[in-house]
Amino acid sequence: MKTNSTILVTGGAGYIGSHAVRQLKKAGHSTVVLDNLVYGHKEFVDSNELITGDLSDKHLLTKIFSKNKIAAVMHFAAYALVGESVANPSKYYQNNVACTLNLLDAMIEHDVKKIIFSSTCATYGEPVEIPIGENHPQSPINPYGRTKLAVETILRDYDTAYELKSVCLRYFNAAGADPDGGIGEDHDPETHLIPLVLDAALQIRPAITVFGHDYPTEDGTCIRDYIHVTDLADAHLLALTYLSKTNKSDVFNLGNGNGFSVDQVIETAKTITGRAIPVTRGARRAGDPAVLIGSSEKARRVLGWKPKFNSLDQIVSTAWNWHQSRFK
Ligand code: UDP
Repeated sequence: MKTNSTILVTGGAGYIGSHAVRQLKKAGHSTVVLDNLVYGHKEFVDSNELITGDLSDKHLLTKIFSKNKIAAVMHFAAYALVGESVANPSKYYQNNVACTLNLLDAMIEHDVKKIIFSSTCATYGEPVEIPIGENHPQSPINPYGRTKLAVETILRDYDTAYELKSVCLRYFNAAGADPDGGIGEDHDPETHLIPLVLDAALQIRPAITVFGHDYPTEDGTCIRDYIHVTDLADAHLLALTYLSKTNKSDVFNLGNGNGFSVDQVIETAKTITGRAIPVTRGARRAGDPAVLIGSSEKARRVLGWKPKFNSLDQIVSTAWNWHQSRFK
């Protein structure tokens, strides 16, 4: 991908999208961000242009693609709460699938043929083997995962029919914050482990509730593969380069390959914050597999991806710096 090309970033005001916009800028790309700001934060957007709008608005999409010379799209915009997707699948299929179709059709119409798509390890469902490689069966256990798998399937068909080339990046647990400060994780409502643990450290919440302590793991709590958000953002840039070099669609897992239990995350946060973190033991959360660890060997080998912030300490300490500045 040549520098100075414009990348359209949907969801660029969100957690992962805003970090990608920063890395794109550092690499010399100009960006146009499209975000409906339902969950995004406009102050996170370090872009040439922020368009507040929705992918359901086909006229807006036509305008954006007509006005700008877009070389490729990074598509982050999506709803991503598993529980909500079970209670309100319509919202998820409309937004994550139907709106994505609007985007893809606008791309085809304007001859924009490259897209990096935010997929997820939730497309695998209950793992049959650990670590999970890209060839692991995809059998999602909730509507959120099914919307992401639907888009992966659509992208394969669009490649065959229209030569739209895509890289699907299946994230494991995104965590941490830009070490340069200013942006980080801020969901409303917050459901993710690390920000909730840090809320407890700041006494914004009384305690962290651990969901389940009878899993078949060493300490009985769930194990996840936490990957730093800046490393995720870097992988998107490498995926862009890969697409322009090879013009070939592909899929990659993005994780650390190391698993940490909920209790280990809490212990690490206690050490890094130097604060007391009260813990409540709660019931299992529906749909949580005991262990999710990905193999990202393919991303390392093919894309040349080298995560820089790959210790849990680095992930939690960048999150803590951000959390203190944002929520104190
Ligand atoms: N978790 C927890 N208490 C919370 C939130 C999360 O014990 O208040 C656990 C959850 O069961 C999972 C891990 O922390 O095992 C990571 O959950 P998170 O929601 O951060 O990410 P997910 O794995 O759902 O993408």
